[in-house]
Amino acid sequence: MLFENSLDFARRMDASDALASFRSRFHIPQHQGKDQVYLCGNSLGLQPKSAKDAIEQELKDWAELGVEGHFKGKNPWMYYHHFLTEKAAKVVGALPEEVVIMNNLTANLHLMMVSFYKPTASRYKIIMEGSAFPSDQYAMETQARFHGLNPDEAIVELKPREGEDTLRTEDILATIEAHKDSLAIVMMGGVNYLTGQAFDMEAITQKAHEVGAKVGFDLAHAAGNLHLKLHEWGPDFAVWCTYKYLNSGPGGTSGVFVHQRHANNPDLVRFAGWWGHDEESRFQMKKGFIPMKGAAGWQLSNAQIFPMAIHKASLDLFDEAGMQNLRAKSESLTAYLYFILAQFSEHLKVISPVNPQDRGCQLSIIVKSDGKRLFDFLESRGILPDWREPNVIRMSPVPMYNSFEDVYRVGEALQAYFNAAKN
Ligand SMILES: *Cc1c(COP(=O)(O)O)cnc(C)c1O
Repeated sequence: MLFENSLDFARRMDASDALASFRSRFHIPQHQGKDQVYLCGNSLGLQPKSAKDAIEQELKDWAELGVEGHFKGKNPWMYYHHFLTEKAAKVVGALPEEVVIMNNLTANLHLMMVSFYKPTASRYKIIMEGSAFPSDQYAMETQARFHGLNPDEAIVELKPREGEDTLRTEDILATIEAHKDSLAIVMMGGVNYLTGQAFDMEAITQKAHEVGAKVGFDLAHAAGNLHLKLHEWGPDFAVWCTYKYLNSGPGGTSGVFVHQRHANNPDLVRFAGWWGHDEESRFQMKKGFIPMKGAAGWQLSNAQIFPMAIHKASLDLFDEAGMQNLRAKSESLTAYLYFILAQFSEHLKVISPVNPQDRGCQLSIIVKSDGKRLFDFLESRGILPDWREPNVIRMSPVPMYNSFEDVYRVGEALQAYFNAAKN
């Protein structure tokens, strides 16, 4: 694709974008009476306009039916997670029985580690990204301690080579090989939150399994961003949140994937609750935990209807748009942003991978001097990327509601900023 740094070009791209109308299904924050250029969908996705009706429906059923909403509501609360499973599974490329929506991300990560991280005297190591999201770092550190291990010995961190910003797949695979006899699990992001790098989950899974280790992915930055094929790639588990690319609201619910090969293994140890118990006999209130088949058997509590109602509304939009179509648009939208940023390469450096296959929609940049000042300038112009200490600006044009014109506007503002700096 040959890009042009012009408003006319950006508008032509938008005019031929089959997904362009989805933008009108979202509330776009306003800046001085105009749509803000919102580039923080990697942090908190925008609100689908349908979210309000979805919440109001449940408030209405609660008001009118009280406890009977569990069975007589429009979407009976008793079975609420069932209403989400199929569409959530499609978004991550899984079978419905491999997916359940429940809890929050970090809680789910711990629940999965309880089942899949079972260190022994000889096999106890966890391989993870060196600059993982802090919650994942704390989770892995305390998982090691929970098993009486010293995190400094148990955790192996993957680091980019000297002078490089992202990890090479060959180095990830070589690290797995180097620890093959002591490795218990590989637990890493699907997309790194800071650099936007997408990892080769299929190759990592294959290699981890080859050496007899388990593998799990935190898909916080991958779900709703990449075209995932979890069932086919075969990791043991995955977890994700729904408030980033999945637009399901602040603190929203989370997703869990457990591969089909574990679906019927009631011996897999887990921390259980009544909602994971066999649905047929759940209300007999008997002793003795019998897990539901598949990922549903990891549920603890009855469904959180309000965050799930928003997620349900949001998943309808993903189903309508199609993850494959979203990803196709995303590749070209982010390539356009890459092209625009490249015009300013004397002032800034893109640390995200150059190859579209190795990244999601996010591009992360380091400005040669005083990045925070540029960030503040962009914000004052109605462009909202995000700032990560000490020096990274992240920009995530998302295919569901961002436009090529949004991306053009970024270049226009950068031009104004660097021109002013010259004078
Ligand atoms: C956003 C994010 C989290 C946040 O965890 P919560 O439990 O949802 O607060 C954790 N890990 C990663 C990799 C993230 O990107």
